[in-house]
Amino acid sequence: MSLLNLTLAQASKALHAGEVSATELTTAYIKAVEELNPRLNAFITPTPELALAQARDADARLKSGTATPLTGIPIAMKDLFCTAGVRTTAASKILSPFVPPYESTVSAKLKAAGAVTLGKANLDEFAMGSSNITSAYGPVENPWKRTGSDAKLVPGGSSGGSAAAVAARLALAATGTDTGGSIRQPAAFTGIAGIKPTYGRCSRYGIVAFASSLDQAGPMARTVEDNAMLLNVMAGFDEKDSTSANVAVPDFTQALTRGVAGKRIGIPREYRLDGTNPEILALWDQGIAWLREAGAEVIDISLPHTKYGLAVYYIVAPAEASSNLARYDGVRFGARVDGHDLIDMYERTRAAGFGPEVKRRIMIGTYVLSHGYYDAYYLKAQKVRALILRDFQQAFTQVDAILTPTAPSAAFGLGEKMDDPVTMYLNDVFTVPASLAGVPAMSVPAGLSSEGLPLGLQIIGRHFDEETVFAVSAAIEKAAGFNALPELRAK
Ligand code: GLN
Repeated sequence: MSLLNLTLAQASKALHAGEVSATELTTAYIKAVEELNPRLNAFITPTPELALAQARDADARLKSGTATPLTGIPIAMKDLFCTAGVRTTAASKILSPFVPPYESTVSAKLKAAGAVTLGKANLDEFAMGSSNITSAYGPVENPWKRTGSDAKLVPGGSSGGSAAAVAARLALAATGTDTGGSIRQPAAFTGIAGIKPTYGRCSRYGIVAFASSLDQAGPMARTVEDNAMLLNVMAGFDEKDSTSANVAVPDFTQALTRGVAGKRIGIPREYRLDGTNPEILALWDQGIAWLREAGAEVIDISLPHTKYGLAVYYIVAPAEASSNLARYDGVRFGARVDGHDLIDMYERTRAAGFGPEVKRRIMIGTYVLSHGYYDAYYLKAQKVRALILRDFQQAFTQVDAILTPTAPSAAFGLGEKMDDPVTMYLNDVFTVPASLAGVPAMSVPAGLSSEGLPLGLQIIGRHFDEETVFAVSAAIEKAAGFNALPELRAK
């Protein structure tokens, strides 16, 4: 069991010191997946044989002295990253037969560094959701439970499989993608850390597209340090993605010990929403106190357009999704349902291939882009998006980072918030603004609710200043001393 409780950084040290082999570590994780995946459904496609072959290569590299810090580290790959020769579904029926002939840049970089892929992690269909219940391959169960209750909880979404796998020790770390909160909110719901880097920091090449102006890949892992080690490898310019930024990638682990003395931390008053769970507000106050004690200066700031964030997001994201998803027409790849002519085949294929949430987004997106509504909705939303970005730019003239809660609640029950999509969308209220502005943001586990569930704090930084985000996150992590584990198996 103890092998599974190592952090990525500890496992990396143990591998390099020869205290454990990549094959032993990988075998322990494969066993854990076999034991718990039938219950948690964190992986759509486990790839144990591939993992063992990669582990053997990793052992050879570790022996020959060509290993990197990630060599031999078993990870879960969100099933939105195309993996050559390994089925990639985006948790949709329409992609159920899809085996990509090529590899996404981010997964290729992790592979090249020697990371071992345990399998493809479950998610909301096409990453649309906040609870992993829209997956065509069934929901993911959060390994955490409320104290004294056996009710199944959601792991958050859309990277719910990645989050559950890391929290339940079915993987040392995972990849995620975040369009409006899909790394940060599931990280918060499962007691792990995850960062959405600056838009453009990681290549989107080979990631199944949801909303291209928002989608961004990032790591999810137990600690802030583990995230920094992963981002070191995942980040970087890629000429195959025209929005990838040609910006140097620093060694993010160097930022972890910078501390926050003298740093100015902004507290946006608009995030104190009426009706927010008092426990979340108390945790936020606690986070403020921790940073003050560590020497930061805390400054009250205003992000006045925050209240439009969700409305803008739920126009822009569906608009881009409706356009991106037009390619799934049964012609070149994916599932097909035959019809009596071409149009009929398109219609039958899309009707059978997409789930209800994806259809809803396509309808909303098509509507807001349609003649007569484009100016009223899409163009207006783009203008307000620019104002949201300006709010952040303005704030970052006064502060170095911003502290907020990650989500307005702890993990909720499987099946809750299902009757009305808007209730589900409200869960993204704290994460969506950073996505619209393209700034980096991290969720760090900071405490437990009175019901025994993990809660996260969000640290938002300037464009391409993930280093400050890591420094502040590391300070919160240290002060919080969060080391609770879900009760899944004997320790
Ligand atoms: N929950 C948000 C949505 O449903 C965000 C999803 C994401 O970041 N991929 O769109």
